[in-house]
Amino acid sequence: MTPPEASAAPVAVLGGTFNPIHNGHLRSALELVERLSLGCLHLMPCATPPHRDAPQCSALRRADMVELAIAGEPRLQCDRRELARSGPSWTIDSLQELRAEYGPARSLSLVMGCDALLGLERWHRWRSLLDFAHIVVIARPGWQWPQEGVLAGWLAEHCIAQVAMLHQQPAGKVLMQELRPLAISSTEIRNLCAAGCSPRYLLPEPVLDYIDTHQLYADTAGTDCLTGEKSPGCKPKP
Ligand code: ATP
Repeated sequence: MTPPEASAAPVAVLGGTFNPIHNGHLRSALELVERLSLGCLHLMPCATPPHRDAPQCSALRRADMVELAIAGEPRLQCDRRELARSGPSWTIDSLQELRAEYGPARSLSLVMGCDALLGLERWHRWRSLLDFAHIVVIARPGWQWPQEGVLAGWLAEHCIAQVAMLHQQPAGKVLMQELRPLAISSTEIRNLCAAGCSPRYLLPEPVLDYIDTHQLYADTAGTDCLTGEKSPGCKPKP
C-alpha cells in the first residue's frame, strides 16, 4: 500500500490523564500509528478531568512525563492544548480545535480504551464527537464491547470493520482495534510507588527518573510492600 501524502495523512489523538504515562499507552499509540498509517498521533494530557477526581499530580508534570516518554519518536506528539484552557477539559472542544487546524477533509480519529468507551454517555455532547472525528477503540484486557443499551445501539449504527473506511471520510465512524494487550495501568504504577515497590519496566526509564526526582507518588501510602517500612520512592537507592 502506498503511504498517504504526509500532508494528507490521517491523524489521531489519544487523550488521558497520563498519571503517569506508561508502556501500555505508548505501545498502543505506536501500533496504531503503523496500523492506521497515521501521519501523527497526539497524546493529549487532560488538565481537569471532568469525570474523575482531580489527579494529585499537576497537569504540567503529567505533560512533562509524556514529553520524556516520546522523545525520539516523531510520530508521537505531546499536545498541551488542554493545559491552556480553563474549566473542565471537554474532549469535544479539543476535537473542534483539531478539526479547525487540520481542515474539513483530513481523517481525524479520537482514540480511547474500551474502559473509557463504556463511560462515553457521561461525556459532554458525546454524540457530537463523531461530527468532528472518528472514534478508534482499543480492546483492553478484561473489558468488553457494550452489549446493550443506548451506547450499544449507537455503536452498532456507526461501527465499521475495515481500517480503509477510516481514510475514506474525515469523521463519523467507530472502529475497534485489538492491539498487543499490555495489562498496565497508571493506577497500578501509583500503587506500586506508594507501597515502595518498583514500577520499573512498566514505563520508560526517564519517566521513572522524573517520578523519583519529584517524589510524585511516594507520599500517598508510604509503606514498603515487602518490609512494611516507610517508602523511599519508586527507584531503589544505589
Ligand atoms: P488510571 O489507572 O489512572 O485510570 P490509565 O492507565 O487507564 O489510568 P489513562 O490516562 O486514564 O490511563 O488512559 C488514557 C487512555 O489510554 C484511556 O482511553 C485508556 O483506556 C487507555 N489505556 C490506558 N492503559 C492502557 C493499556 N494498558 N492499553 C491500552 N490502552 C490503555
